[in-house]
Amino acid sequence: MLFDNHGRPIHYLRLAVTDRCNLRCHYCMPEHGLQWLSRADLLSYEEMLRLCTLLVRMGITKIRITGGEPFVRKDMMKLLRSLAAIDGLEQIHLTTNGVATAGFVPELKQLGIRSVNLSLDTLDRERFFQITRRDELPRVLDTLHALLEHGIPVKVNAVVMDGQNTNDLIPLAALSRDLPVDVRFIEEMPFNGGDHITGRPLWDYVRILDTLRVEWPSLEKTPDAPFSTSMNYLVPGFKGKIGIIAAWSRTFCGTCNRIRVTPKGVLKTCLYDQGVLQLRDLMRSGLDDEALQVHLLDAFAHRPANGWEAAAARVDSPLEESMATIGG
Ligand code: SAM
Ligand code: SF4
Repeated sequence: MLFDNHGRPIHYLRLAVTDRCNLRCHYCMPEHGLQWLSRADLLSYEEMLRLCTLLVRMGITKIRITGGEPFVRKDMMKLLRSLAAIDGLEQIHLTTNGVATAGFVPELKQLGIRSVNLSLDTLDRERFFQITRRDELPRVLDTLHALLEHGIPVKVNAVVMDGQNTNDLIPLAALSRDLPVDVRFIEEMPFNGGDHITGRPLWDYVRILDTLRVEWPSLEKTPDAPFSTSMNYLVPGFKGKIGIIAAWSRTFCGTCNRIRVTPKGVLKTCLYDQGVLQLRDLMRSGLDDEALQVHLLDAFAHRPANGWEAAAARVDSPLEESMATIGG
């Protein structure tokens, strides 16, 4: 078991396999995209596999593949197949926007992918276009239905944005009434690649909860799974849960069990830090696993207590990188 300097266990890695994306969600990146990383800048699959194997040996039991959009990276299934063969890795999960995912769902099932987080901020096609700058809602819904058909647990994640999709809260939450999916609402964070400046979200977790309660007064709190980032609720009779992720308010730091590796191989021990270790360069400099492990343990021993401390410790680095380069 791995523990950090605050006694929190670390057993969950979020690995971002690319910064590229087939959508342009404006809470994540500008319309023209980002300054995409070159292939040489990205961790190769071999490097990812080496890192994951080492981290699993050290105590990581759960890996989530994210990005950017994982399915725009060539041969993504090849990586998943290799990860699925790592001894000791108990769970692989995925986060995807669902645009190009549906065709892979049968193999995801075959590989034992535990669950998929599907990002979906509205069920209205026009609003989907406004938010993501692409007309792809039908393909995302195809993915949702393919996942359900194959019995892969799905969580729908929606970022709540003032003046944009707040009218979609209730229709989105109602998915959990009609389908066996959990729907989670995320506070908007400033990580949008410089698209616009955000501060404290007008729609924080309290306002989101209040809105849900007006619609469903019988909404009741359900116990949260250990290390959960979402506060979870249930409306009696609904098939799935409704959750709220206070990503800006940072209510969950006390039980944070996760680390991140960005597409260019930077270790982040907190979502709000600016990166604490360049793993790619260490690997490319010829370090062996034993030496790499020493660096990793040192980083885990210097973890900030929470996202506020991590943000305050950033040097000349405003909170504006894109979630696609962080690994959301
Ligand atoms: N492309 C995939 C997707 O959209 O699911 C995976 C990567 S995306 C960066 C991961 C998650 O980060 C998505 O659920 C997205 O909604 C969330 N996200 C991106 N930018 C965000 C922001 N500024 N605030 C809150 N959540 C954000
Ligand atoms: Fe792409 Fe996901 Fe960012 Fe949207 S949130 S632009 S789908 S990486």
